[in-house]
Amino acid sequence: MKERHSKRSVHGPHDRETRPVSVVTGGAGFLGPHLCDFLLEQGHRVVCLDNLITGNVQNIEHLAGNDAFRFIKHDVTEYIYLPGAVDYIFHFASPASPIDYLELPIQTLKVGALGTHKALGLARAKRAAFLLASTSEVYGDPLVHPQNESYWGNVNPIGPRGVYDEAKRYAEAITMAYHRFHGVNTKIVRIFNTYGPRMRPNDGRVVPTFIVQCLRNKPITLFGDGGQTRSFCYVADLIRGIYLMSRSKQDGPVNLGNPDEMSIAEFAMKIRELTGSRSEIVYKPLPVDDPKVRRPDITKAKDVLGWKPEIGLEEGLARTIEYFRSQQGDPAPAPAHKRRSNQRDASA
Ligand code: UDP
Repeated sequence: MKERHSKRSVHGPHDRETRPVSVVTGGAGFLGPHLCDFLLEQGHRVVCLDNLITGNVQNIEHLAGNDAFRFIKHDVTEYIYLPGAVDYIFHFASPASPIDYLELPIQTLKVGALGTHKALGLARAKRAAFLLASTSEVYGDPLVHPQNESYWGNVNPIGPRGVYDEAKRYAEAITMAYHRFHGVNTKIVRIFNTYGPRMRPNDGRVVPTFIVQCLRNKPITLFGDGGQTRSFCYVADLIRGIYLMSRSKQDGPVNLGNPDEMSIAEFAMKIRELTGSRSEIVYKPLPVDDPKVRRPDITKAKDVLGWKPEIGLEEGLARTIEYFRSQQGDPAPAPAHKRRSNQRDASA
């Protein structure tokens, strides 16, 4: 299902462009590279913007030499200049794991606020469709279960997670303001826990953490009593949903995630079983404001996009475990903000 298009490309006037041009902010993170791959397969030209503070060029190095792909190292909280036509903007730039946004609180707030403003400004200038990668965190520690799009959430604005939750809530608000006031063609997806290859082994999220601990037969760090629940979606399913959303006429938020819910304690057992690990469980304090339950109501995604996840947990985890196994002994370099703090530590 390749799209045809007549606009000129950001790749230069010599290029007789017939393909849609997509910009992916945060394109070198976890989800961004999967989206870049998918868009290229659909015949798009792709411009990937990333400042690499939590992203990693290793995640896009397989695209080097692809004429339809271009990487620009850029912090999207600064003015974004791109010549030529742009058809779609996928705004994914943000620290997204709890330990990243706790270590980068100001950058997290800035990219949600200033970065979303710049990306929307680009969409308006180029008359491009704009898709915001929002999050289930906008529901906070939810009092409604499962969460549907009409729930307004239960967020602590001044807690440590508030920097991410409120940044994304602001991002949703300014996206709707650009839609209503400037007529920008916007879409918002609320992404629930997603996992798969290209997560950083040390990003602190539960999937890479438990898999790496199990592969090394190290203790599994279970936070709280492990009774809190999550529902995990495999990355390929999510990217398909995002693509469908980008082509839909839906401007409001749509949940994307897998409604198959389990406790984190059960999840730890599942990873231990699938990796054949001897790891023991160690209990650690539950992080502040850690949501007690989370499960998406995906009725809207089914109705308006005809989308639902197709890859079951065991299959998705098998692929992800295989990825981390192949990375063992070849760990991805630390993200830029960690390298800087290591250098500071080393020079202190
Ligand atoms: N968690 C855990 N051990 C870890 C990392 C996370 O028990 O080493 C728990 C965490 O407290 C949360 C769940 O796993 O309840 C999912 O955490 P994650 O950081 O992946 O994302 P969240 O869903 O909280 O945004």
